[in-house]
Amino acid sequence: NTFNGDDSGDLTPRQTPGALYSKAVPTPVEKVSLLAWSNELAEKLGIQKPTEQKEIDILGGSHVTDTMYPYAACYAGHQFGNWAGQLGDGRAITLGEWETTPGQSWELQLKGAGQTPYSRRADGRAVLRSSVREYLMSEAMHYLGVPTTRALSLVTTGEPILRDMFYNGNPAYEPGAIVMRVAPSFLRFGNFEVLSARKEIDNLKQLVNWTIDRYYPHLTGEDKVLQWFKEVVERTAKLMVEWMRVGFVHGVMNTDNMSILGLTIDYGPYSFVDDYDPNFTPNTTDLPGRRYAFGKQPSIAYWNLGCLAGALALLFPDTKALIETLETYKEVYWSNYYGMMGKKLGLDQVTQEDIKLVKELEELLTAIKPDMTIFFRLLIDLPLDMADATASEKYFKQGLYNDLTEEEKVRLYTFIQKYVERIKSNSCTREASQELMRRTNPYFILRNYLLHQAIEELEQGKDELFTKLQAAMKAPYSDKYTEFFQTRPEWATQKAGCSM
Ligand code: AMP
Ligand code: MG
Ligand code: MG
Repeated sequence: NTFNGDDSGDLTPRQTPGALYSKAVPTPVEKVSLLAWSNELAEKLGIQKPTEQKEIDILGGSHVTDTMYPYAACYAGHQFGNWAGQLGDGRAITLGEWETTPGQSWELQLKGAGQTPYSRRADGRAVLRSSVREYLMSEAMHYLGVPTTRALSLVTTGEPILRDMFYNGNPAYEPGAIVMRVAPSFLRFGNFEVLSARKEIDNLKQLVNWTIDRYYPHLTGEDKVLQWFKEVVERTAKLMVEWMRVGFVHGVMNTDNMSILGLTIDYGPYSFVDDYDPNFTPNTTDLPGRRYAFGKQPSIAYWNLGCLAGALALLFPDTKALIETLETYKEVYWSNYYGMMGKKLGLDQVTQEDIKLVKELEELLTAIKPDMTIFFRLLIDLPLDMADATASEKYFKQGLYNDLTEEEKVRLYTFIQKYVERIKSNSCTREASQELMRRTNPYFILRNYLLHQAIEELEQGKDELFTKLQAAMKAPYSDKYTEFFQTRPEWATQKAGCSM
């Protein structure tokens, strides 16, 4: 490691000016038990499934080999729009990097492995609930085709964790767990922000150059820092388009949760939208402001890129080009967004007229709030000779949470008529258009209530649903798992996920 770091190994919570990381050895736990293992990812990495307890212990931080250098990264961030100063990996510890092929390496990181100098007043641990959520969802996003960090393993620690001091008047404990996360890098916007805020210009330069050499090696010219920022803008915009495509709401888009590689990172209170609602947020701490609501994500990403640009400004004598580059976000986002919506709708191309049709659809969906996933899947096999408004309501019934008013029925039918005309004008065959839609609109999503059920079962020692969800999420575009193709049941209102 060539960076300035704090190698003391001291885990006392503190500020670490001058250091990009702190050495942090995981705190051993009572008993590491393997609960889940990602076979495909392991294969890709060339890592064998551990069988001996000593190897399993690595996944719980109870065994550190002498080839590892465990550390916690120092970063800062803007949280809910406010500068929050130093944050850092408070419960994530990187064990090291795993090289698969020359130039291709993976950071292996334990989440919940104990305190680090960045734990502030928290325990450095993670509960089973949040660990199952991170493990399943990061893998599910991968299979959906959305850029994301991954998860190799999920272990329980055999240690109860105190999360609610005053639950019904008594302290409530939850089982502890640890996920091994995997990504080329977990660098966040916040890693750059902390150095800029501290005016550590040499450290900032070094981290920027290293990031470019390592992850953007095709950039070599004199203006490579600007070109790099342009690519970060592009990747971030495209990630937002992907979230909108599948209906994913991250829930905590603070700049410390924004990946410099454009990956979905840090799975906390996230949720998919069930009924289409741009205002939906799964994060109870984000009410009533709804800063990180579904429909606001693209503009928040732009705001966050503005923070990154602000940090990089220290490296630019003249920030005009930097600001112009930031402004390319809108064009990149909108062109990709409408391209994506065209695919969701099975269009052969997207014209100005089509953009109007998409906007009309968005207004319709916001008004009638159907299940987003079911609505788009039903659209694939839409009969091209829908008789009237009643027939169209009946056709979409399976994806509706409410009976439609007369006015809404007419609105739906009007859209359907326009849409059918548009489909008929495609230069490709209906089959080709339907095939495109099948590849773009997931059939299976990991709904919040399913996660909730699976976790409750796991806490009682049953893993039937957990296992089934793992199978279903690997083929999200196939219509194999019909039992999950239904609207959220009434007992489970669209509400917060959980983050702890
Ligand atoms: P998040 O909102 O999950 O992105 O976390 C914000 C900050 O709080 C990060 O610096 C985390 O490392 C830290 N943090 C969250 N939970 C814990 C915990 N249980 N122990 C220590 N640090 C934590
Ligand atoms: Mg975070
Ligand atoms: Mg988190």
